[in-house]
Amino acid sequence: MDRCIRTRFAPSPTGYMHIGNLRTALYEYLIAKSQGGKFILRIEDTDQGRLVEGATDVIYKTLEMTGLKHDEGPDIGGEYGPYVQSERMGMYMDYAKQLVEKGEAYYCFCTKERLESLKESNAEGAAFAKYDRHCLGLSAEEVQAKLDAGEPFVIRQKMPDSGTTAFHDVVYGDITVENAELDDQILMKADGFPTYNFANVVDDHLMNITHVVRGSEYLSSTPKYNLLYQAFGWEAPVYVHLPAVMRDAHHKLSKRHGDKSFEDLVNEGYLVEAIVNYIALLGWSPADNTEIFSLKELEETFDIAGLSKSPSIFDIKKLTWMNGEYMKAMDFEKFFTLAEPKLAAALEGTDVDLRKIAALLQKRLETWNDIPAMVGFFKELPEYGTELYTHKKMKTNDEIALASLEAAVPVLEGLADWNETAIHDALIALAGKMEIKNGQLLWPVRTALSGEPTSPGGAIELADILGKEETLRRMQKGNAMLKG
Ligand code: GLU
Repeated sequence: MDRCIRTRFAPSPTGYMHIGNLRTALYEYLIAKSQGGKFILRIEDTDQGRLVEGATDVIYKTLEMTGLKHDEGPDIGGEYGPYVQSERMGMYMDYAKQLVEKGEAYYCFCTKERLESLKESNAEGAAFAKYDRHCLGLSAEEVQAKLDAGEPFVIRQKMPDSGTTAFHDVVYGDITVENAELDDQILMKADGFPTYNFANVVDDHLMNITHVVRGSEYLSSTPKYNLLYQAFGWEAPVYVHLPAVMRDAHHKLSKRHGDKSFEDLVNEGYLVEAIVNYIALLGWSPADNTEIFSLKELEETFDIAGLSKSPSIFDIKKLTWMNGEYMKAMDFEKFFTLAEPKLAAALEGTDVDLRKIAALLQKRLETWNDIPAMVGFFKELPEYGTELYTHKKMKTNDEIALASLEAAVPVLEGLADWNETAIHDALIALAGKMEIKNGQLLWPVRTALSGEPTSPGGAIELADILGKEETLRRMQKGNAMLKG
């Protein structure tokens, strides 16, 4: 490859970051970075009717949070700017006029009403009607007269009447379409703005983009883009179209139907690194079966050949599992810093040691938002039923639990030091003395202390954290419940 690889992320500012869009950005970043190339950010805001206040900030923020650092873009500049389409207005019209001069495009003055009536009279139904080239026949003088009179106009691409257009896509392979099927699409709109279809070609060329990566919904328009490159005499980029990210076998992920955006996942307690890792695998797989990758590792491993054309299903369970793996692998100090605000909020008004609780949580937490439900019992013993004392594997039932709690209360009461070692030694010695299995003593104590079927930590850790007085109070309560 003689050109430096240049990819671009070209989002339209909609106000949130779709999972599919983030995956596109990630692959663009990885294609560039895995080959020493550049990753460019371009904001596509020519659809002025759809602009959303603050939406560009969501894009910057997401790229920053995920570490997909762009090399050029509206906020940092670069030699191919401006990087916001609305700031590039003048040049689109100039390029469109060049095509008109070459006979590759033409002015169209048809009114909305006329175009509507074309649709109505269309045999294939109203949804699609090819433009009937009414204005293609206008002479140069007629066009000039209309322009001089200030009539509103659009500029349309003139498609070849016959033959085929073929292109190669890295993911989907060779694609060929009949030119006769292609509509004379609008390049410049009546408001003077280019359509996406025109602007993306002009910008990708002027920004020297080598690889265009985008959703497969653009696949069917790509022949038209290729014809534009040909009309200008420009080299077309390498095309990499990505299959949709699906909710299930039949439905695409869709924000409108309640599927989560990147921000939603972050707000629900997922780690950015885990989201990025998970998204990398939605349509790409490494040569081996490795699943856990840091962004740096992805940059080293990513290979375009690992892209797949079968749609991937977004599986929240798998992401949750992966998130748990990231939590476990995290340096404890970092884990504690991130967990502390949620712990402090959930346990406000208590003086339990949050660091100790965090250490227990780290081994089993899957998302930050699970914290309140997992630690609530430290603050207040929930209402629970005595059936919790029955545990098959621990070989306990009400009767054993009652005997265990009754014996354990005075032993713990008599402890001078209250720490894990002291509690552990006392309880293990007691189980030995009672000639029961450790679990038959520890499970009932754990249950009495938490009132929950599962807890982060067993009897000894919970007793240590709750303190002597509260531990004894809860065990006595359990005792009384079992006596019934
Ligand atoms: N602005 C388009 C979108 O957000 C970009 C498509 C492309 O990457 O060319 O869908």
